[in-house]
Amino acid sequence: MQARPEVLAYVALGGNLGDAQVVVRQAMDQIAALAQTRMVAKSSLYLSAPVDSSGPDYVNAVVEISTTLSAPELLLHLQELENRAGRERPYLNAPRTLDLDLLLFGQANITSQCLTVPHPRMWQRAFVLVPLAEIAPHLVSDAQISAVSGQTLRRIPAQSPSN
Ligand code: ADP
Ligand code: MG
Repeated sequence: MQARPEVLAYVALGGNLGDAQVVVRQAMDQIAALAQTRMVAKSSLYLSAPVDSSGPDYVNAVVEISTTLSAPELLLHLQELENRAGRERPYLNAPRTLDLDLLLFGQANITSQCLTVPHPRMWQRAFVLVPLAEIAPHLVSDAQISAVSGQTLRRIPAQSPSN
């Protein structure tokens, strides 16, 4: 079988239950460890008030990966990581331990029953666009950032190794 080419993909991470900073950092490590996948860049962690959801503030981040998985394969792996983090879906937009959304998969446009790429709501969300712009500024325009500037987002300073 011919090897698939490497594709650059962007994944948004979010969570607002439990120790969400720990959960999001662990999920970054787990994504880095996925088969046929390597981590290219990790954004800072950000805090955002829930949008269309409830509960404590969310911890958000975006990662850039290079993978030879297909988009549906990658989604399955991401959903497995959500489940491992104890994700439950009691109702639409419920608070969650871990949400992993596939934002972009190379140049792909995908509309299937279980996967839409580019992610349909990514351009409306500061908690996606700001961390995405941090690691891939060429993908987000100033106008797109301005359009979501009313949404409050706080960057969590990087942890120093000593604490
Ligand atoms: P949401 O992220 O919209 O709050 P969920 O994480 O529960 O909600 O995802 C609901 C469904 O969205 C999943 O079962 C998945 O099949 C579908 N989905 C469609 N496109 C994407 C995408 N780009 N990334 C992640 N999930 C997606
Ligand atoms: Mg999701």
